Amino acid sequence: MKIICIGRNYKDHAKELNNPVPKQPLIFMKPSSALLINKKPLYYPEFTKDLHHEIEVVLKICKNGRHVQPEFAKEYYKEVALGIDFTARDIQKQCKEKGHPWEIAKAFDGSASLSEFVPLDLVEDNGLQFELKKNGETVQIGNTQDLIFDFNYLITYVSKFFKLQMGDLIYTGTPAGVGPVQIGDVLEGNFSKMSDQTPLLYCEIK
Ligand code: ZN
Repeated sequence: MKIICIGRNYKDHAKELNNPVPKQPLIFMKPSSALLINKKPLYYPEFTKDLHHEIEVVLKICKNGRHVQPEFAKEYYKEVALGIDFTARDIQKQCKEKGHPWEIAKAFDGSASLSEFVPLDLVEDNGLQFELKKNGETVQIGNTQDLIFDFNYLITYVSKFFKLQMGDLIYTGTPAGVGPVQIGDVLEGNFSKMSDQTPLLYCEIK
């Protein structure tokens, strides 16, 4: 299983970090050891002083494929989840300044929190609207209608380079509002269509 992540896929987020809006998807990976199962706490890593949350819609690949053509892309995912792409922003900044890969800032143990999956049709309503709350206060709101590269484009693009395999995950990028977390913070994510239910995503920082 591989975890494929897309960076800067919402204009507002690219702007808030003073990054240019990309012309093609920006791709990076996390190893399977980065996965943080829902409701398991994240222990604040000792190597950072600026750990950030990035809420993202996550696609689960349900079919193997390479060089997927756009008209077939939607057959490759049927379920979605919410995840947090935890980022050591201070380390990422150092990596970027040196032109180094940023895995140590983004692919460390526990850096990919993941909720349970739900059928796509259950949460779709003019795109997927979702939000992240930190200690009960909304910090990020997103709608996949604002994606620079939509799900189908990502499937087509990613599969040019990497064979998609059943069970692979694609973190599709974060909307604006990323920010720091501290020990003791509780993070809860939900799709707006499920806002009357217990939050799908739950993660405590310890
Ligand atoms: Zn991200």
